[in-house]
Amino acid sequence: MNQAPTSDRAPVAWSTSHLGRMPVEYELCMSLHWLSRLRWVAGGGVIVATWVANTLLGLGLNTLELYVTGVAILAYNVIFQRWLAKIQCDLTGISASARRLARVQIGVDWIAMASLIHFSGGIESPAILYFFFHTTLSAILLSARDTFLFTGLASLLLSTTAWLEYAGVLPHHHVKGLLPTELYALPLYVFSVLFFFASAVFVSAYLATRTTRRLRAREGEMVQLGQDLQRAIGQVAALYESAQAVSSTLELQEVLDRLTRSTASVMKVKGCTIRLLQETSTELCLASTYGLRDAYLQKGCLLVDQNPLVQQVLQGEIVAVPDISTDARLQYPAEAAAEGIRATLTAPLTGKSGPLGIIRVYCDRVQCFTSEDEQFLRAMASHGSIAIENAMAYEAIEHLEEAKRKFVLLVTHELRSPIGVVHSLLKTLAGGYAGSLSTVQNDMIVRALRRNEFLQTLIDDLLDVAAGKAGLRRTTQMAPVDLMTVVRRIHDRYQAAAVEKQIDFGLDLPEEATLTVAADDEEIDRAVTNLVSNAVKYTPSGGMVELTLERQAGAARLIVTDSGIGIPDNALPHLFEEFYRAPNAKEQVKQGTGLGLVITKDIVTRYGGSLRVSSALGKGSTFTVILPLMSEESPSDARPTDALSVSTGPSGVSMS
Ligand code: ATP
Ligand code: MG
Repeated sequence: MNQAPTSDRAPVAWSTSHLGRMPVEYELCMSLHWLSRLRWVAGGGVIVATWVANTLLGLGLNTLELYVTGVAILAYNVIFQRWLAKIQCDLTGISASARRLARVQIGVDWIAMASLIHFSGGIESPAILYFFFHTTLSAILLSARDTFLFTGLASLLLSTTAWLEYAGVLPHHHVKGLLPTELYALPLYVFSVLFFFASAVFVSAYLATRTTRRLRAREGEMVQLGQDLQRAIGQVAALYESAQAVSSTLELQEVLDRLTRSTASVMKVKGCTIRLLQETSTELCLASTYGLRDAYLQKGCLLVDQNPLVQQVLQGEIVAVPDISTDARLQYPAEAAAEGIRATLTAPLTGKSGPLGIIRVYCDRVQCFTSEDEQFLRAMASHGSIAIENAMAYEAIEHLEEAKRKFVLLVTHELRSPIGVVHSLLKTLAGGYAGSLSTVQNDMIVRALRRNEFLQTLIDDLLDVAAGKAGLRRTTQMAPVDLMTVVRRIHDRYQAAAVEKQIDFGLDLPEEATLTVAADDEEIDRAVTNLVSNAVKYTPSGGMVELTLERQAGAARLIVTDSGIGIPDNALPHLFEEFYRAPNAKEQVKQGTGLGLVITKDIVTRYGGSLRVSSALGKGSTFTVILPLMSEESPSDARPTDALSVSTGPSGVSMS
């Protein structure tokens, strides 16, 4: 069983609660820098404006106090800059210190403003209007509550200054060049200015905060949408990856394991299981698991008729159990609790012909699954069902193939002995041991013998093909086989047939003493015999057949070439199909099973070799076998392999 993944789904996968604030916070942080830069202009502006108003315009301002105010603004801005330098503006969250800095900055600015107003005429000063800048700024930078607090503070500062000047507690600094008469002592004027200032500044604060709130809400929505989109893209990518992984194999167990593994890791849950419906449809038994301990998994199959939750799922529903301690629908709640499971989500695996089983994810927190999780699991289950069904179909086909081959093996095997008996009886008759025969009778017996021999060959070939394909030969004990000996033996064997057909039958062996492959002597003999027998069989009288054996890097190459009937181009791709015989071969030689090359191909490829054919119709054919040589150090180098690739060209077929 697989190792449990770390269950950290809450903060990473789907949580969005902390994300909506990020851009606003980032903006606040950036605005603090901007405000600080603006303050250099404001401080410098106060100094320059005081100088211009007094020197050039002759307004008669209190220059010293105003210069001090300007310098104070510049001085405290240096401190704020240092503070600000310690605050990082990035998107990974922002500190409360940035908010605190914003509040302190605006508060200190407010006091500087009050001082500026006081020294530039108090209630008569046109600088009062500057409060509106800061009201708008605080609406942008701070919360609505803070903005209204600061607006109240502005009104309070202005009213206090006006009242203290009116009461004579603070001296009034009248700007002579601006107003011909002093108005600060007129109660109605003071009251009107304060009233209109307070109402205007509060209305501005209200409008600015309202607009900011709406903008922030929009921004929040956009962030949320962005998050949703991001998550959806993540899920689609995860689905795609898992679909690829799951569909890239047809091995049922591998498909199931990949499905549980990818579902658990994408959903970041504690574990995942797949249970498949048994043939009786009454039980759902474990087929694959990920992340859960064996102790929990050994609790047995789920009984469909005793499990209402499973029944619901098998009817096509996705069923969530948000808290297993309060839900009576689980069949093994105690075992689940002991495993640390707190919530489950189960989806049906449905094939074309009905339910296949269920897929279930397990979480170690209650209320763990959202509707998005349900949708995601449904998607995983539906593409998983297709992959499972394909793998099941493939498995069924494989079983069928296997059964077919075993059947052929059995039948041919059983046919062998009666045919052997018939053969020896016919031989006895033909030999005259059962009485003398007339010429006609003898003729008939000889024909029957020939037919019987063909039947025997056919059965031998069928047995070979079936044995090879059923994998029965894979257990063959390998031993060093000298190819020179095998080729020489087969050449001797076919010498008589070649002489009878007046075929020039050549043999070209290398200089060296031996060429050894790790194989079964009988099989190698059979593979080479099939090629040589074809060459002799399909070469008319007076033709040529040549066997050449040579060494090439780490391998032996056997070339069987003839000047026979050749193979038509369109027959080449079918040459290694069972029972296939080219039309020209059928015409020339009546008897043949079309199994010889199939057997040769099977043997050669199992020993890690390759077989290549090239032919020209009416001119002859060349079959080239390459077999890996047994290395002296490691005899296992020439281990059989199942790998087979076939490529065809206009005049050749090769396999390796
Ligand atoms: P058997 O199974 O009895 O050997 P077969 O010779 O017809 O019958 P294979 O040895 O499998 O079957 O060969 C398949 C077909 O390939 C042949 O029927 C023939 O058409 C073609 N063939 C193989 N070798 C040659 C060759 N040397 N020259 C021409 N055709 C060949
Ligand atoms: Mg043959």
